[in-house]
Amino acid sequence: MIDTDITKRLTSSLKKKGMKILTSAAAANFEKTESDYRVTANTPKGEVVVEAEEVLLSGGRGPVTDGIGLDEVGVEYDRTGIAVNEHYETNVASIYAIGDVTGQWMLAHAASHNGIAVVERIMNFESNINQNLVPNCIFIFPEIASVGLTEMEAKAKDLTINVSKFMFAANGKALALGKSEGYVKVIEHEGKLAGVHIMGPHASDLIHEGTLAINKGLTVRDIAETIHAHPTLSEAFVEATLGLHNEAIHMVPKKKKKIKVNNFKPHTLNQRAMSNMDIVFLCCCEHKSYKIFILRLSIKILNKKY
Ligand SMILES: Cc1cc2nc3c(=O)[nH]c(=O)nc-3n(C[C@H](O)[C@H](O)[C@H](O)COP(=O)(O)OP(=O)(O)OC[C@H]3O[C@@H](n4cnc5c(N)ncnc54)[C@H](O)[C@@H]3O)c2cc1C
Repeated sequence: MIDTDITKRLTSSLKKKGMKILTSAAAANFEKTESDYRVTANTPKGEVVVEAEEVLLSGGRGPVTDGIGLDEVGVEYDRTGIAVNEHYETNVASIYAIGDVTGQWMLAHAASHNGIAVVERIMNFESNINQNLVPNCIFIFPEIASVGLTEMEAKAKDLTINVSKFMFAANGKALALGKSEGYVKVIEHEGKLAGVHIMGPHASDLIHEGTLAINKGLTVRDIAETIHAHPTLSEAFVEATLGLHNEAIHMVPKKKKKIKVNNFKPHTLNQRAMSNMDIVFLCCCEHKSYKIFILRLSIKILNKKY
């Protein structure tokens, strides 16, 4: 459900913030010491003991099917939930099941849209809710949100895909917010978006543009031809989409090389350095004798650009 690119980046982001992450670790023992808590975990590398001020247990969720009379009325279920068809009908006429108890998405918005679809069906309204396309958000810092296929899922299905990423570091609004960590990743299949994965500011809000695009089968061109306001975080979505065909406008330069002052020859500044203000100002800081020249150069660039 979450693209592995994002889990890798989140892991390194959390580690940078000082978090220690143990994966494939089964908590085996938990005790209260005089001052703290002590958790013992079995990991592939052996037993690990972690001391902490607080312990948060997050052990997953499952459908609760006990004690609601399913056996009495003959509704089929197993430990994964109540069995339903695409209309949320159980095997017993007039008994429907929606939400967590079906063991499907286990998300609030999925449950409520299951419910809407069932009521629409009972009322003989046409229901076109795409119940298979459910955005999934993780409310962490930075936020994570995804919808549609991950790159791994697409590859497992042998789909021919095209992938593009746009970093928030090149998005004006993200920079102004001081939250430029992360990116928008889009996956294209046959000219249409098949998956959108976001890590960054307001990811849980931004994901709906991707959800709408996938749901309504918008083409990459449809998105490219839709004007997005500037400066907004949504521009990162358009840029990522444009990037599918190498048409992104504000891509971060691939390499931000620090020009060594010793080797720095002003007349050899290439086009790339000329368009990269960071490099110019980096040089300012590093070598005072070039300052005046460089500041003039910067002004020149500014004049040229605007
Ligand atoms: C800590 C936590 C955080 C979560 N955060 C998010 C989140 O950020 N976003 C998100 O999308 N989802 C989140 N979820 C999941 C979300 O809450 C569920 O997916 C959603 O509530 C499922 O809706 P539901 O209607 O299927 O079940 P429920 O919301 O559990 O509703 C079932 C209802 O049935 C009632 N009931 C049970 N037995 C009987 C009975 N015998 N007779 C009559 N009534 C009965 C219950 O009292 C309850 O009101 C979170 C869940 C938890 C536990």
